[in-house]
Amino acid sequence: MNTLRKHGIAYFLLALAVATGMVWYAIFIFDARHRLRLTVFDIGQGDSIFIQAENDTQVLIDGGPSSAVLGKLGSVMPFWDRSIDLIVLTHPHVDHVTGLVEVLKRYDVGMVLESDVNYSTPEYREWHTLLQQKHIPVVIARAGQKIHLSPKTELDILTPFKSFVGVSLTNVHDAMVVSKLIYASSSVMLMGDAEKPLEYQLLLSGDDLKSDILKTGHHGSKTSTMPDFVAAVSPNYAVISVGRKNRYGHPHQQTLDTLAKFGIKTFRTDLDGDAEFVSDGKRFEKVQ
Ligand SMILES: [Zn+2]
Ligand SMILES: [Zn+2]
Repeated sequence: MNTLRKHGIAYFLLALAVATGMVWYAIFIFDARHRLRLTVFDIGQGDSIFIQAENDTQVLIDGGPSSAVLGKLGSVMPFWDRSIDLIVLTHPHVDHVTGLVEVLKRYDVGMVLESDVNYSTPEYREWHTLLQQKHIPVVIARAGQKIHLSPKTELDILTPFKSFVGVSLTNVHDAMVVSKLIYASSSVMLMGDAEKPLEYQLLLSGDDLKSDILKTGHHGSKTSTMPDFVAAVSPNYAVISVGRKNRYGHPHQQTLDTLAKFGIKTFRTDLDGDAEFVSDGKRFEKVQ
């Protein structure tokens, strides 16, 4: 084969590869449009949830207990994308805030939503120092707020019901930022570490709790996910964010039994890894 012909074939194959790549990329983009993606990261003992709305608005709820969240973000965001539109901190415990500190150091963040609960740990102080240094707008979460992520997608804040300024709580879980993600007629209940007292308050609030997915409260502990609450949410899927062989014994068998009793397909990050779901606006489906 002469050199010219060899080069000709090489160029043809290269062009074919580029064209194939472009077609696949176009299919990928087309497929991604009109779909909302939600991933509960397998982040160890903690919580971290990434949402990409159908218009590409990105939200990160909690950051888990370590910098592991950075690798997880790299797996769901293109490498050139260094910005996140909204970060929600459900509460200041280290298994939720620590990873967010690392995220603040490396990503441009449009806005932060958190409670005004009184709490002081090195990680939480560093979080606030970075927020100030980077001039990131902070909104204090309050029941009734609706954050519009797209014309069809909103994050409804269900709790806290009141301000906690000057209040010292024995359990900061009572000041949890609980939210409901709604994309057209599909929805997800995001409980953070909410426990039964908050579940009671939500039941009494008159809010529409029905959701397709329940991200269960407090890593599946028995202090959350009471049957009346599960009945009100009535999800198809539940996700428990929990670390392998964690020292708390999470999730509790009682929680697993409750979810099983209602016939809810339940995923655990310790056993099943990242739990990824997509919605076309009508319903959520689990990505295999
Ligand atoms: Zn936690
Ligand atoms: Zn907690």
